[in-house]
Amino acid sequence: MSIDFLKLVNQGIQQLAPYEAGKPIEELERELGIKNIVKLASNENPLGISPKVKQAMVDAIDDIHRYPDANGFEFKHKISQKFNVKPDQITLGNGSNDLLELIAHTFVNAGDEVIFSQYAFIVYPLVTKAINATPVIIPALDFGHDLKAFLDNITAKTKMVFIANPNNPTGTFLSEAQIRDFLTKLPSHIICVLDEAYTEFAHSENRVNSVALANEFDNLIVCRTLSKAYGLAGIRLGFAISHPKIADLLNRVRQPFNCNSIALAAGIAAINDLDFINQVVTNNQQGMIQYEQFFKQKNLAYIPSSGNFITLDLAQNAAPIYQKLLEQGVIVRPIAGYGLPNHLRISIGTKTENEKCINALASILG
Ligand SMILES: *Cc1c(COP(=O)(O)O)cnc(C)c1O
Repeated sequence: MSIDFLKLVNQGIQQLAPYEAGKPIEELERELGIKNIVKLASNENPLGISPKVKQAMVDAIDDIHRYPDANGFEFKHKISQKFNVKPDQITLGNGSNDLLELIAHTFVNAGDEVIFSQYAFIVYPLVTKAINATPVIIPALDFGHDLKAFLDNITAKTKMVFIANPNNPTGTFLSEAQIRDFLTKLPSHIICVLDEAYTEFAHSENRVNSVALANEFDNLIVCRTLSKAYGLAGIRLGFAISHPKIADLLNRVRQPFNCNSIALAAGIAAINDLDFINQVVTNNQQGMIQYEQFFKQKNLAYIPSSGNFITLDLAQNAAPIYQKLLEQGVIVRPIAGYGLPNHLRISIGTKTENEKCINALASILG
């Protein structure tokens, strides 16, 4: 007897493929029996976490038999001071992925349309399909968002748009003026999710004051994460800033204990640790230059990036090169699943990690 469970699940979920994460170091160690592996596949922070944050997490263990603060009072208080918003504008998430799903779940009905860009973060189609809504995919403009085409594709069924700025996996960037212009034209009943997972890495002169935009446009939800610049990918913590009425709705749907107490302690210690963020951003800028110089020297095409990764165009199927890099102990990210089979996304590492990746690429590409 065999039951086809796929037939039992809701229609939206029938269309889902599993999320393909970057290959874990331990897995490659097991497979190839090699050591000193460099993982540049998941846009993780090569500098780790700050000692202050580590201590805060260790201290939080003493209270681990208690439930976490369901409202995240102190973390929200810190966020509200840092960004000059009210605590009731904040929704906490178990990573910002949790928030992206929560927002879609809160606002989008089956049959509604959700607009996002070609080469957008894979989680947008995932959450859209899971609730049986219809993804409306806008062809990319220079690998980034074509916001005019977003507007042109709005219908009576459009409920939400997702924008990632900087974008993953391409690293493209939209200016504040472009986003403001878009929000001015977007009908106010359509929710705009602005996913700023990489905002700390964007050059400061063109960083978007998205919090001001959230205060100005009631239908805007800004999502931030502590997974990237703050180095806390493993702890799962993110937050959204929106109109208080939106935050109130999101907080009704949110699992009350979606952020654990160690994560909250880490967030409280991390959010104002500017020294650490500055080090991370500086390391990223220097690493970006390392790769760009190498690519230029070798005449390799790449997409200029405002994130903590750079996407290389190999002008041939990237899969065999990905495989050869693995054999040399370098894990990068193939992005065929994003419709970019000739590209590899490389997360910026430390100087030494970048050198290892560059040397491996040079030996493979000749
Ligand atoms: C990494 C990333 C996130 C953050 O995910 P978390 O769940 O917070 O770890 C969100 N959006 C994009 C586009 C990302 O690349």
